[in-house]
Amino acid sequence: MSVAFRIRCCLCRKNIPLAGDAIALDGEWQRRYPDMLGTLACERCVIDRGWNCCTTTQGGFVDGHVAAPEDQVDVDSWSHHLERGIHRAMVVAYPHSGLLQGAEPYLRWLAGDRYTLPEVAARLGAALGEFDAQHSGTRTPQPATA
Ligand SMILES: [Zn+2]
Ligand SMILES: [Zn+2]
Repeated sequence: MSVAFRIRCCLCRKNIPLAGDAIALDGEWQRRYPDMLGTLACERCVIDRGWNCCTTTQGGFVDGHVAAPEDQVDVDSWSHHLERGIHRAMVVAYPHSGLLQGAEPYLRWLAGDRYTLPEVAARLGAALGEFDAQHSGTRTPQPATA
């Protein structure tokens, strides 16, 4: 038993093909594409929207550049991939993005399933709590004055 879901790519908003990996992108991608919804992308977008070089012709990093993860040599957009993997693993590893990008039913199910590891269920529960708090906050805004 499980719950089917599709991840909408954070860049093109199309469903990430089930046969392909989802790729988690870092803060530099978010800086370059401020309208990203979540951080999980399709393979097509990381190729089509990637960049060849993080530095200027003078040799320094471009203005505002967000450093790649410490274990990466920081040269181009490929340095700014955090991880890639199958859809289920990626939405569990990045639940905040998963909730925004279409995996909410799956993550709610997994958080409550009795076979889910306790530490995973706790992490998902925390992400779901934040997600619900943000969403209830937008539905019922607090008045500015009492
Ligand atoms: Zn895409
Ligand atoms: Zn870089």
